[in-house]
Order: sequence, then structure tokens, then C-alpha cells
Amino acid sequence: MRSRSISLLKTSFGKDKPWVTVTLAAVVVAISVISRPSHAEWLGDTRAMMGTEVSVHIWNEGPEDGSDLIEDVFAEVERIEGLMSTYIEGSEISKINRGAADGPVAAADELIQLILRSLDISMLTRGAFDITYDSIGQHYDFRGRQRPDAATIQEELERIDYRLVEVDRLAGTVRFLAPGVRINLGGIAKGYAVERAVSLLRSRGIRHGIVTAGGDSRLLGDRLGQPFMVGIRDPRKDDEVVLAIPLEDEAISTSGDYERYFEEDGERYHHIIEPTTGLPAGGVRSATIVGPDAVLTDALSTSVFVLGVDQGLTLIATLPDYEGIVIDADGRLFYSDGLQPPDPDPEPAE
Ligand code: ADP
Ligand code: MG
Repeated sequence: MRSRSISLLKTSFGKDKPWVTVTLAAVVVAISVISRPSHAEWLGDTRAMMGTEVSVHIWNEGPEDGSDLIEDVFAEVERIEGLMSTYIEGSEISKINRGAADGPVAAADELIQLILRSLDISMLTRGAFDITYDSIGQHYDFRGRQRPDAATIQEELERIDYRLVEVDRLAGTVRFLAPGVRINLGGIAKGYAVERAVSLLRSRGIRHGIVTAGGDSRLLGDRLGQPFMVGIRDPRKDDEVVLAIPLEDEAISTSGDYERYFEEDGERYHHIIEPTTGLPAGGVRSATIVGPDAVLTDALSTSVFVLGVDQGLTLIATLPDYEGIVIDADGRLFYSDGLQPPDPDPEPAE
């Protein structure tokens, strides 16, 4: 049973006006600048954070100074990054990765809750989403064109198993059940950050806005009476958009094989790891998920990327409020059944 139906638009809007690009990553969110006879205005800023670009755009009707508000949102994202980044030595997640194989490590409740959600999503996706992917993920350096060799993959593969992560809710601790296990929230933390950012904006009286972190966006309200238009990037053409989705008050996440990758001997080595093989997942160029909660759209976009077109869209069909668009290795588009493909449909899903 579907709660709604969204009509997709086949469009090739560029990154130039009247659209305002708020991310260079997976989606292009467009805001048309509507002049209103009041002091209210669109305000926005973009910063390099969480290993990507984070942008905040708000329709500020006052009385607060919009720049202060935006600053507070960035501070909140920075706080979350400080808890959850494996690149920060002193982060809670780094402490867990250093100590949890030797015994329970205490962590902030917020982190415990997100780890628990990640483990739930592992069960939902039958292990396609697995935060322990990092025992192999840590050996990639996409800028330095480094990847793990076959022996390393073989050795580390047995450590990829979310069942090796034990959380004691009452004690607020995390323990790994084998040596060498590592966790990384790269597939869910940006969704969490944009969700938190939008809650903060809402609590401060903002009714229209967008927060984006890399491929994850959360829309607050609409674009002053019209839906926001969110573009899905062409996975092989940086500046092109294959499809536009009219959306309001929703989250949208795209996982793509073009975000972090390098090519070697004609192979594309990218950042989404298939937990059963330890290799970059094949078969899909991008997976986009739309739904009410950015934490879940983020984790599901990564999961559907791993699961592929058939299993991925079968999973999405079981989640009434979530929709998906998958672009396969041949560039064909497939849609979940709550979406109305643009007319004429280029490649209908069966
Ligand atoms: P991004 O917004 O950075 O493109 P995605 O939502 O596409 O992120 O998730 C990709 C990130 O998820 C990777 O960079 C990595 O940190 C993490 N990841 C990779 N493979 C998996 C997996 N199988 N399960 C959970 N997380 C993963
Ligand atoms: Mg994701």
C-alpha cells in the first residue's frame, strides 16, 4: 500500500540560474529566488565538512539573525563529526575502534543509538548495510589510489560481520567479539547530521530550508508554496541531471560510484563495499532513496547500491514511506512503484 505517488520530471536543468546549486555531490537542489515584498530572504552557506560539502539554505523570516542560525547548524554538524569521524583520533568512534576488541568501551548515548540503528538496518538489509565494512574500507585511500590487495581482503573479510558488534544499552558500551573489527558510520552519519540540522532549524522557527551533506539532503517545508526540485545527477556526467523530483518536507539520499573512486586498468574502485566479498559493489552506478527520515534514506541508499536493482527495489517495496530510483551499470533507470516515471518512460522496471 502506497501512501503517495510522486511524478518524476525528465529534465536537464543545469547548475546555472534560476536554480541555485547547493551541492556538487549527488543531488542538485534548486531554489528559485522569489522576491517577496518583505524583509524575509533566502540565506545559505556551504563548507567542507564530514569529508564532503555541507550546505545550509534557509528562508529567514526573522527575528533571529539568519547568519547566526546557519553558524549554529555548522557547529552542530561539527559536533557530530567530532563524535563519529574515524579520521579524528579523539572521536568516540576512534576510541571504540581502538579498545572495543579488548572489552566494553563507553560511548555517548547519541552514538550508541546510531550504532543500534545501524545494526537494525543490517538486519533489515540482510547484511548489505554493515558498519564493520571498515576493516577492509580502512585500506582504501581514494586520493592516493591505494586499495587492499587480495591477501589483505582475505584476511580482513572475516571481520566484516555486524554480529561481531555487541551493544549494552543499559551500560552504554560497545564491544567487538573478535580482534581486528572496526566500525565506520560513513554510510549513515551524514543523514543523521542533516536530520539533526533540520530539527535545530525547525526549533528556531525556520519553516523552509534545505540542509545537504554530500549526497544526503533534508528538506524543511517547501519552496514557498511550490515543491523543491531535487535533481538526480547523471553518474557519468558531472554537470548533468537525469531526473528531477518535486519534493517537500522529505529526505533524499543518493549513493554513487562517482563520489569517491579511482580507476585502475579499466576497473572503477569506489567506496561502497559489498560485505560478502570485500570488493566495491558492482551492478549499480547510483541508488537514490526518498523518504521521511534522512538517517534511513542515507543508510538505505548505501544498502540498495549494494543489493542491486532487483533486491534493492524489492526491499524498498516493503517500506511504505520510502521510494527508490536505481541507475544500473548500463545507465538504465529503475523506479520503485510509488514513483511515476517521466513520460515517455525510458526504461520501465518490470
Ligand atoms: P556518501 O554520501 O559519502 O557518498 P553513501 O551514503 O553513499 O555516502 O555511503 C558510502 C559510505 O558508506 C562509504 O564512504 C563508507 O564510509 C560507507 N560504506 C561503504 N560500504 C558500506 C556498507 N556495505 N555498509 C555500510 N556502510 C558502508
Ligand atoms: Mg548512504
